[in-house]
Amino acid sequence: MIGKGSSLQNFNIEMFQEDLLGWYDANKRDLPWRKDQDPYKVWVSEIMLQQTKVDTVIPYFHNFLEKFPTVHALATADEQEVLKAWEGLGYYSRARNLQHAVREVVENYGGQVPNNPKELEGLKGIGSYTKGAILSIAFNQPEPAVDGNVMRVFSRLLNIDEDIAQPKTKKLFESVTREVISHEDPSSFNQAIMDLGATICTPKSPACLLCPVQEHCQGYELGVEQQLPIKSKTKKNKKIPYAVLIIRNEQDEIAIEQRPDNGLLANLWQFPMVPIQEMSLELIENWFYAQYGMKIKLGEKQADLNHVFSHLTWELNIYHAKLEHDTREEEKVTFVAEGELNFYPFPVSHLKIREFL
Ligand code: SF4
Repeated sequence: MIGKGSSLQNFNIEMFQEDLLGWYDANKRDLPWRKDQDPYKVWVSEIMLQQTKVDTVIPYFHNFLEKFPTVHALATADEQEVLKAWEGLGYYSRARNLQHAVREVVENYGGQVPNNPKELEGLKGIGSYTKGAILSIAFNQPEPAVDGNVMRVFSRLLNIDEDIAQPKTKKLFESVTREVISHEDPSSFNQAIMDLGATICTPKSPACLLCPVQEHCQGYELGVEQQLPIKSKTKKNKKIPYAVLIIRNEQDEIAIEQRPDNGLLANLWQFPMVPIQEMSLELIENWFYAQYGMKIKLGEKQADLNHVFSHLTWELNIYHAKLEHDTREEEKVTFVAEGELNFYPFPVSHLKIREFL
């Protein structure tokens, strides 16, 4: 087992690199952001790939690059347009941070994505993983790009039993990567580890018999690969119930509202949501009148659905409602024709609710 400060004594780094890079050369995944080493494309792809599967990202990546092909195009775009292009991908702060950072690149670095760690890590939304991915993949610098997948692969390869849920463990894996990374081709090395984790050394049932680096793998040799990595349990996911109201006015337009400009799903649009705890229809109507100044008549519940975020779950109870009387002083909600809903960026949960229209 390797702990902090110990060496890679019995690990043949040169042979490992040769086996890994030989396999990668013959088997690498054909991904659109690998067509060239444009740092802007690498950056966009790495932000999209956070918490999101490759197959989901590919069409978004094409669409995003078509709309915002350069740093300048993204920097000058309207935020609502950017959110619209991100609609359905989730974790929308990624899109806002990306645009914020790209604007900094235009203002401070003449539109050139920085090629050094200090400047890159000063940009919003760029953490140690994304920084390492951009520096290695786009600029061919021997920098570690360590995420959960990379920690899993190296946990098994080197029989490391540190808890990967602990932030400090990442540092250990970064120093391990610095020792084993190819200095001739760091770009391929990091991408090869990512591909190995995605296709062979998968979370459940790693395909060790097909693994190109099996003869270097200490976890496999000891028969403990299935027990690695060690990951302590994360906190319980909190459930919050809401009534979601699909309110129509006399013109058959539908009420939508924009979320606040900070916090969860900031600036996205949604159908009005009432936080309910055992609320009757009447209580929901009264709550809505008190908060929005609009009298509504609720119908029976149409459906419910759960939407899981990393730290909480929305339990959404969906109701149709009719606007009966409008005494609004401020425009908390906007009424739009059903066909116009498409012009507004919605989060995934409310895109699903649109199916009930
Ligand atoms: Fe992963 Fe198995 Fe390969 Fe080891 S031998 S790196 S556990 S797939």
